[in-house]
Amino acid sequence: MHASQRAEDNHALEYAVISANALRLPVLVLFCIIPSLPFATGLHYAFMLEGIDEVKRSLANRGIGFIVRKGEPEGIVTALSEDAALLVTDADYVRSGKAWRERISSSVTCPMVMVETNVVVPLGVTSQKEEYSAATIRPKIWKHALTYLVAPHHEEVTITSSERDETGLLQKDRRLLLRTLAKTRTRQLSSTFKGGTSVAQRLLSEFVEQKLPTYASLRNDPAEDSVSHLSSYLHFGQISPVTVASTVLGHQTEGADAFLEELVVRRELAMNYVHYNSNYDTLMGVSSWARATLEDHADDRREHIYSYDELENARTHDSYWNAAQKEMVNTGKMHGYMRMYWGKKILEWSETPADAYSRALELNNRYELDGRDPNGYAGLAWCFGNHDRPWKERPVFGKVRYMNDRGLERKFDMSRYVERMETHP
Ligand SMILES: Cc1cc2nc3c(=O)[nH]c(=O)nc-3n(C[C@H](O)[C@H](O)[C@H](O)COP(=O)(O)OP(=O)(O)OC[C@H]3O[C@@H](n4cnc5c(N)ncnc54)[C@H](O)[C@@H]3O)c2cc1C
Repeated sequence: MHASQRAEDNHALEYAVISANALRLPVLVLFCIIPSLPFATGLHYAFMLEGIDEVKRSLANRGIGFIVRKGEPEGIVTALSEDAALLVTDADYVRSGKAWRERISSSVTCPMVMVETNVVVPLGVTSQKEEYSAATIRPKIWKHALTYLVAPHHEEVTITSSERDETGLLQKDRRLLLRTLAKTRTRQLSSTFKGGTSVAQRLLSEFVEQKLPTYASLRNDPAEDSVSHLSSYLHFGQISPVTVASTVLGHQTEGADAFLEELVVRRELAMNYVHYNSNYDTLMGVSSWARATLEDHADDRREHIYSYDELENARTHDSYWNAAQKEMVNTGKMHGYMRMYWGKKILEWSETPADAYSRALELNNRYELDGRDPNGYAGLAWCFGNHDRPWKERPVFGKVRYMNDRGLERKFDMSRYVERMETHP
């Protein structure tokens, strides 16, 4: 278990249970805590471990063994699977996760099966290539989505296992463990959001009852709290996108359509981007027309240039941008609409587009609880023109879409948003 950290609606886990029952063998789940993940802070590890505590309890109730080890998965999985009849893993689409699965597949002696359970439609079924935009991938996803929007078949295990976390890693002093896991220091070790499948399920129910009816009209407004807040739970695989999409699909409203466009089309476009584009985490990954126009305007005069430190500490002349940066640092989650404005402004206020890209990526991955996610790489690439079309040419941005503060003021009550971020504890 790596990318889909949950005991519920997990196709990889259920595949393992069905196979074990057929072989009359027990199931043992292994979770590796990988120390010093790039940019990850104590906040990310704390959220993840809250989810893992719950996985441990749920698996024990089902008679499924569960062990936790600290270290890179490659050696640990290979050694443990020497005694296994079958190795089952979930799927990941970022470079590191794909690479170690690949290496394990050539070093283990038992059969190995990878089951995708963090998307609605398996990536290769939707498309065999990098898609240009939401418009090109949308029909390909919806052609198959209804086939895949079903919960995995659930069986009880016939041979139970009592193997448990014998290293006691999860029982260790949490603060001490978090310090050894993350190189970077964080001011606080818990965010506004508590990790775990049950919290994600509660957020989903509240969203459907209270926010879905107005999601289509209010989701972009940063002054409103009208979004699901599910991104970090989806990032760690603590809730299945199939569960979320199936719950919302039952409500045939404008809100449901708008939500499924984000959760299924935009999210799976992001997965497609990182899977098929090996440069997904640099400016080189962005469409060639966008890179060319940014290059043409690389020497344009920038009215403001801010250092990384000034950006990190929200010390720019722009109170809306500062509020967004504070929201991210203080809560672990910036509003989605402000993420677009935030990324565009970093492009405007940096010496070069490549510099802007790497600084934005670092801030995003360090401070967003849902950071290091395909959505983050695709979201940033969008700020630099990817998955978008050329617009009217202008300084610095060239033909890449521009955003300004007046646009925010026209649409939203920005003073309310700024005030809320100023008063956040
Ligand atoms: C510069 C930039 C950086 C971003 N960084 C991240 C990131 O690090 N991690 C991350 O998960 N998302 C990122 N996003 C995408 C999006 O902003 C967040 O997924 C969303 O704000 C999460 O809040 P929510 O779950 O309350 O969203 P909701 O509006 O409730 O949406 C539900 C789900 O749909 C998906 N979704 C929503 N908007 C998008 C989108 N634009 N693209 C792809 N999927 C989407 C997410 O999985 C989200 O949880 C980024 C976007 C931009 C422009």
